[in-house]
Amino acid sequence: MESLFGDLFDDLESKSARFADVILPVPIPKMFTYKIPKSLEGEVGIGFRVMVQFGSKKVLTGIIGKVHQKPPKEYEAKPILDVLDSYAMVNPLQIKFWSWMAEYYCCHIGEVMNAALPAGLKLSSESKIQLNPTFDTETSPYPLDEREEVILQALASKSELSYDECEQLLGIKSIHGIIKSLVIKEAIIVFEQVKDKYTPKVESRIRFSQPFVEDRKSLETLFDELSAKPKQEEILLKYLQEVPIYQRPELNVKGLDKRIFADAGLSMSSLKTLIKNGVLEEYKLIISRFEEIQGNDEEVTLSEEQNRAIEEIKSSFQEKQVNLLHGITGSGKTEIYIKLIEEAIASGSQVLLLLPEIALTTQIVSRLQKVFGSKMGIYHSKFSDNERVEVWNGVISGKFSFVVGVRSSIFLPFDSLGLIIVDEEHESSYKQFEPSPRFHARDAAIMLSWLHQAKTLLGSATPSFESYFNARIKKYGYVQLLNRYGDASLPEFLISDILVDKKKQLLKLDFTRLMREKIQEALNNQEQVLIFQNRRGYAPYISCEDCGWIPECEHCDVSLTYHQYSEEMRCHYCGFKEKIPKVCPACGSGKLSAVGLGTERIEESLSLLFPEARIARMDLDTTRSKYGYQRILEDFGAGNVDVLVGTQMITKGLDFDRVTVVGILDADRILYFPDFRAGERAFQQITQVAGRAGRREKRGVVIIQSRKPDHFLFDQVIKGDYKGFYLQDMAERQKFFYPPFVKLIKVSCRHKDYKLAEKAARHLHNLLLEVQVKKIMLGPEKGLIGKIKNQYIFETLVKLDKSGNAQAIFKHELRRILESMYANKEFRSVRIIIDVDPY
Ligand code: ADP
Ligand code: ZN
Ligand code: ZN
Repeated sequence: MESLFGDLFDDLESKSARFADVILPVPIPKMFTYKIPKSLEGEVGIGFRVMVQFGSKKVLTGIIGKVHQKPPKEYEAKPILDVLDSYAMVNPLQIKFWSWMAEYYCCHIGEVMNAALPAGLKLSSESKIQLNPTFDTETSPYPLDEREEVILQALASKSELSYDECEQLLGIKSIHGIIKSLVIKEAIIVFEQVKDKYTPKVESRIRFSQPFVEDRKSLETLFDELSAKPKQEEILLKYLQEVPIYQRPELNVKGLDKRIFADAGLSMSSLKTLIKNGVLEEYKLIISRFEEIQGNDEEVTLSEEQNRAIEEIKSSFQEKQVNLLHGITGSGKTEIYIKLIEEAIASGSQVLLLLPEIALTTQIVSRLQKVFGSKMGIYHSKFSDNERVEVWNGVISGKFSFVVGVRSSIFLPFDSLGLIIVDEEHESSYKQFEPSPRFHARDAAIMLSWLHQAKTLLGSATPSFESYFNARIKKYGYVQLLNRYGDASLPEFLISDILVDKKKQLLKLDFTRLMREKIQEALNNQEQVLIFQNRRGYAPYISCEDCGWIPECEHCDVSLTYHQYSEEMRCHYCGFKEKIPKVCPACGSGKLSAVGLGTERIEESLSLLFPEARIARMDLDTTRSKYGYQRILEDFGAGNVDVLVGTQMITKGLDFDRVTVVGILDADRILYFPDFRAGERAFQQITQVAGRAGRREKRGVVIIQSRKPDHFLFDQVIKGDYKGFYLQDMAERQKFFYPPFVKLIKVSCRHKDYKLAEKAARHLHNLLLEVQVKKIMLGPEKGLIGKIKNQYIFETLVKLDKSGNAQAIFKHELRRILESMYANKEFRSVRIIIDVDPY
């Protein structure tokens, strides 16, 4: 039979052979078709992680994006080498979402996959070596040197070695030369080993061997036998006390954590004996990295205004997919979110709550955890790779029906979202700058919820002008909260003129008299103070008083920031560090002084001005560790700190009872920034940081130091006239063609050769000019910072007409133009960066 029908069956097989389009982490904008081998049929589908060969040597892991019957036209499909999981890690909705993101942000789907998958699910491959089986020292014509001998000897006892192990073995830094030589001498083979990064957390557990559970007699006999061995008896008694198997034999299945015996001071060697004698058995249980927390339903009574807002949101959701909740600081938006989340979960949907940064999450997260317990998953960048994989799997398994997380949580494997809430939707940290995809999590969340046919609620006290615009043109629903919760009222604002104080010699260590008085008052009343300065380090730069020399980064077009604490100057763009020079390298003068204000310097000034006050600082430098933020905030909340100095980290979300004074030391720095969003951002930052003051009965006060106290923005912030400021700013944006009236796309060229970067940018600019859509183009010109990490930057800004399909046409043409740039030999080494909706 076989010989007779063999050919026929082969033929049938090839007809039914299925193919998979695999998404791979390579900079080519498409999927790649592979053959699903017979042995894997039925075991793979969309969303499975697979291993495939790419090019002649490389083995890559990818995700199946599509399965079909069509063999590729241009090449012979290679087979999938292996499938890595028994279930799909990614669902079809996610693949759609990735495709949308690649399309909209003009990047490759492989780049989106890279951003989406937690590192623990991306396999790492490692180069290893093993002996070449045909190699024989005796007959080999090549002499080996001493180091090579050592490696080969080690391979005799251990069948494979990693490069790291070889380096340790020889005590050297790089092994590559020796490996190359051994390969040439045909002594070893190099191979790539792929390994999963995720390791489950396991616990050693102890339980009774089955006979003792089934039959109580044997247990009694056992105790009789052990009466002469009290140490062993004690262990068994401890077990029975914790796990009452007399009453409930089924409890034995799970057993008891081994550590409990050790903690009780029982003999570990007797435990071992009991295991050896087959009385007890030890097994490994995979456990969650997250604590079990019981949520409680403790009823919070909502205010009338909160209830009205909820009703309005719900009725507005009947017609609109997106709603903007515009509620002043302290109006109680969190409780509104909680109600809506509870209802969505009760109706069987999943919910995602996005928060801009982890600094914010500590307070809100602990509030939410009290309500939702361990039903709620948490997802953020300070989690370990393993923890993130567990959240990912928890969403798939249904353990987490609700996730609160930062921008990357839009990539979690949700399959039935009902509601996405974007808190503080105006926050610029929702935008990813580097690497590609340069997405905005709020905008992506709106798309994601559309794919799920879900609703999106955007919440803010100072909405982004884009969202407010969409609400005004009725694209989004709009709901307002005009009062603070409870008896709290908005703070009083005082503007303090820096120049006047300077003239009168009342400026002390950069603090005006009014600022010092208000801080002192708060300290006298045992109240707390927040001081805001959006610049970390000691001073923005150092300057020579005699010749004006300013130290600059060797690799970037920026001055180095002076960090007194670590006694060095640092580049905030590339991380370059340098010791502070004793004398000016330009003129030899010893008069080097720090210019401008950083958080370190303010902390120092405060301790000189208020020696009795307890002062703390919260910025990137003090919060690098996993619980850095939390520790500072807990200390502040517990009243161990009187004055907290910080960057924008302290402007958001903080809700403390005793903060009555908020100081903004240098408001002018926020106002005058060369960006069309500068005004919007200044309004938001000042309103937000001011919103931390006086959130309970006692009214707070906000002191703003400025050299331009008459600036119209202050007036509007004080009056809380968001709309007035918006309308004024919109008029400008309309006149000068900025969003939301146009669509912006920034195209930049980067190269270490200045001339080549410029030439490529010009060439690209000219190609873009030819695209036949309504648009305005600026540039190409040197970036705001002309060089970063030794790469010169030239940019073109495209302002696209928003009506019709100008955007779609332009992006389509852009893709074609990029391919022609990459195909152009001259520009092949130029890095081209596309930023859609740049910030
Ligand atoms: P927002 O996020 O709008 O700035 P929050 O949600 O932080 O405001 O609420 C401000 C304060 O009011 C918080 O301390 C919160 O616990 C309290 N609060 C809000 N709503 C209620 C309520 N219904 N019952 C009790 N306390 C509330
Ligand atoms: Zn000098
Ligand atoms: Zn630098």
